[in-house]
Amino acid sequence: MRPAIIEKTAAQLRVKPNWDDSPEARAAFSWQAEAEALAGQPGGALNLAYEAVDRHAQGRRRRHVALRILDRNGGHCSISYAQLSSLSNRFANVLQGLGVGAGARLFVLCERGLELYLGVLGGLKNGCVVSPLFCAFGPEPLETRLRLGEGSILLTSETLYRRKIAAIRERLPALEHVLLYDENGASSTPPEGTLSLHKLLATAAEDFSIAPTTADSPALLHFTSGTTGTPKGALHVHGAVLTHYVSGKYALDLHPNDIYWCSADPGWVTGTSYGIIAPLLLGVTSVVDSGEFDAERWYSILEKEKISVWYTAPTAIRMLMKAGPELAHRHNFAHLRFIASVGEPLNPEAVWWGQEVLGRPIHDNWWQTETGGIMIANTLAMPIKPGSMGKPLPGVEAAIVSRGEDGSLQLLADEQVGELALKRPWPALFRTYLGQEERYRRCFVGDWYLSGDLARRDADGYYWFVGRDDDVIKSAGHLIGPFEVESALLEHPAVAEAAVIGIPDALLGERVKAFVALKSGFVASQALHDELLGHARKRLGATVAPKALAFLPSLPHTRSGKLMRRLLKARELGLPEGDTSTLESPS
Ligand code: ATP
Ligand code: MG
Repeated sequence: MRPAIIEKTAAQLRVKPNWDDSPEARAAFSWQAEAEALAGQPGGALNLAYEAVDRHAQGRRRRHVALRILDRNGGHCSISYAQLSSLSNRFANVLQGLGVGAGARLFVLCERGLELYLGVLGGLKNGCVVSPLFCAFGPEPLETRLRLGEGSILLTSETLYRRKIAAIRERLPALEHVLLYDENGASSTPPEGTLSLHKLLATAAEDFSIAPTTADSPALLHFTSGTTGTPKGALHVHGAVLTHYVSGKYALDLHPNDIYWCSADPGWVTGTSYGIIAPLLLGVTSVVDSGEFDAERWYSILEKEKISVWYTAPTAIRMLMKAGPELAHRHNFAHLRFIASVGEPLNPEAVWWGQEVLGRPIHDNWWQTETGGIMIANTLAMPIKPGSMGKPLPGVEAAIVSRGEDGSLQLLADEQVGELALKRPWPALFRTYLGQEERYRRCFVGDWYLSGDLARRDADGYYWFVGRDDDVIKSAGHLIGPFEVESALLEHPAVAEAAVIGIPDALLGERVKAFVALKSGFVASQALHDELLGHARKRLGATVAPKALAFLPSLPHTRSGKLMRRLLKARELGLPEGDTSTLESPS
């Protein structure tokens, strides 16, 4: 049996953690003191992009590499903080030259590459509200988001434009300007109604006076993943920069000489908060990989780029686990000192896989599009309890609560399951759901923001994810979190991935059913089916273990890598599938 806690020795930590998790450090924390690290703007103004880039470009880190961009064919280019500052200034000047003013909505539909960074940072400098989109979206989800967000400018590639936007363009009357970059160099004839980004950048000035945004000015519009229903547009402000800074420092433990890799897609909030902003705020070098997931490619990046801090997601880890340990063993991960994961519960099996195959355990952390940044985390200094999301970061007050019929809130004791709530405000708390003010208001009761996730806290203050409100199964009077059942199935050597749902049952209320995708080398059979049900019963007991199990070649995910249990349920029950705009690929 593996131990329930992964303790760490000072030698294993290699650097002094930024956060030591002591009661003294917690008591001493103040947002105000942390804000001292930021430069601010004259007259109390504040701009995310200035803090992320120009602050360093005007200081000692001006020549430090901000971005190391890897192309699909093995090439790379390095961009210093000074270069990123002047290039994003140029982009801001392009916007200004087009008459784009503060508050205008700029949508960025870009692969991982320099244009993505220029679009987001230059847009923020110009005071635009920037909204990144998934490149893999089809025309319909793009149209929905551009319409809801009233996008007036779009930055994208020529290929993506021709494939996805051209056909819907006339249904987007608010879209005034489309800026295109050509992956193969400046195109001689951009499509009608579009402008060539590179031509405009070539003549734009390198100096720019940053828009006088304040901590309350809208900055980013992020759509939620659509795991539980139609995606919501969460609006964030420039003041969120302080959460990004503090969480980059304490949850990701970024130190000045780190080489950092965030493998999240740019269309997902993680791709912005921790793919663009937080690493720049901490002045580190970010590796930006333009390629798609490929186990060998990823292991090579970790090794050859000497990645020291890696922020990834359970779905990616499960894909690497599926590829088998032999591939990993051909590589050397000597530089890797900290691995973190977000987006879904991280099964204990995956935490241990990190320890055993990569030489570092994986540190789970929890947050949402709405929270704007990491709220609960296993930090470097803390012992890990595999399966737990960790403890609230400094400056974050969490609680497990239950909502009464009359709308009142009761704070629950340790070990009780309830809704995970966070005390407001904190700098990156979202400011509204676009077009759904009432729904936004319903997220709050008094001082508390209610997350919609169920969890419990143990006596050591660690939080344990139980399930989303909608996914929790009620069977024979028991509350069953799918995560617990899925984690048990994942311990079986044949299982690559598992998803568990509740099916209406006259006797039990709901009956637990599991869907399983197998690792390569294993074949579905009646014997394996029975073996897996037996394994789960042994691990979980008859009440909690699945009563039924089906094999699938793969499980449905959102583009941000989350299991779409609601889709499995709808398919199982023959119900409408609902909004599938974020479904990764038909499965
Ligand atoms: P939607 O709100 O549209 O249904 P979504 O909630 O998946 O989609 P995101 O904001 O991208 O959209 O995801 C946040 C959610 O992801 C959290 O509320 C939680 O359910 C889940 N999540 C994130 N990190 C973790 C984690 N470490 N452990 C468990 N669940 C997590
Ligand atoms: Mg959500």
